[in-house]
Amino acid sequence: MPPAAHAQIDLEALTHNLGRIRSLAPNSNIMAVIKANAYGHGAIPVARALAAADAFAVARVDEGIALREAGIRQRITVLQGFLGAEELMLHSHYDLEPVVHSAKQTEILESANLDNPVTVWLKLDSGMHRLGFAAEEFVACHDRLCRCRSVCQPPFLITHLANADELDDPVTERQLDLFGTQVAGLPGGRSIANSAGLLAWENALAEWVRPGIALYGVSPFPNRTAADEGLKPVMTLRTRLIAIKQLKAGAAVGYGGDWVCNRPTLLGIAAIGYGDGYPRHARSGTPVLVRGQRVPLVGRVSMDMITLDLTDCQQAEVGDAVTLWGEGLPVEEIARHADTIPYVLLCNVTPRVKRVVGRRPE
Ligand SMILES: *Cc1c(COP(=O)(O)O)cnc(C)c1O
Repeated sequence: MPPAAHAQIDLEALTHNLGRIRSLAPNSNIMAVIKANAYGHGAIPVARALAAADAFAVARVDEGIALREAGIRQRITVLQGFLGAEELMLHSHYDLEPVVHSAKQTEILESANLDNPVTVWLKLDSGMHRLGFAAEEFVACHDRLCRCRSVCQPPFLITHLANADELDDPVTERQLDLFGTQVAGLPGGRSIANSAGLLAWENALAEWVRPGIALYGVSPFPNRTAADEGLKPVMTLRTRLIAIKQLKAGAAVGYGGDWVCNRPTLLGIAAIGYGDGYPRHARSGTPVLVRGQRVPLVGRVSMDMITLDLTDCQQAEVGDAVTLWGEGLPVEEIARHADTIPYVLLCNVTPRVKRVVGRRPE
């Protein structure tokens, strides 16, 4: 019998996706983005499986320390860098590479006296307007970092694309132009592309690419799925049917009774809900796989359960495996039914859901 809510993590799909990214960016090093617990997949097993990645990226210093403590030896970039001198010390101690995006960080580096200088990624704000130096400040800061004893020379150069998932948006070309102008003639490796950047914008491939979502087998583009990109989904979220009942036409199902049977209905109850990270806003009609067949979710998602219309799947039995997304059911499609994006669905899988590493859980 399949276990209750579990996320099967297919490491073969993960390494396939890394290979696919390599073939798309054959001249780039790959910095695999494994922030937020590797987008909900489990940072440590994912990092171990991605032994062929050239480096990793996390958002925060704690995430980098956890990887080091688990024995991960590759280079690790910390995308938010440090906020104070103590966090800088941690970067130096654990051999983590901060992104430097503010004058304050530059000052901290200048006044630090590190035994082990840090490799830094100097960030240009090329139009995202989140982290990074404005174009006017960029070169001056580069000069300062080049003279700083606590910095391994030369600094790496980085920027982030805001709209790379929108293929006809002129913003990306403007960002690429600005970055190109600012870094022209400077030494140091460059990094621009996230997943959408490397899949769609050839000019964004530089010495380093930074794929996140594509590694997990998800398309970053609206209205496309992994298969369109030659990627395979890594996470399959599954549970089991715990009850089946026959209802009469007119019966209302679940909290609020929003969904009412318009015919005699065979109702299935599956053991997963928003307490596991299944989106509460998934609408009636969201597809779910039972015995490989699509059936619609009906009624409101509750904390531990969802209800399914099995009327057209009469062979279903209590104990059957139920797939919420992943193999055979793209998470991109579920995101559209829940008015969200696949990133959110993957990140929101809660600790209650056991991660089962390997191809087949049963
Ligand atoms: C999260 C992140 C990435 C990866 O983005 P995807 O869209 O998941 O590929 C790359 N670069 C930076 C700076 C990020 O924050």
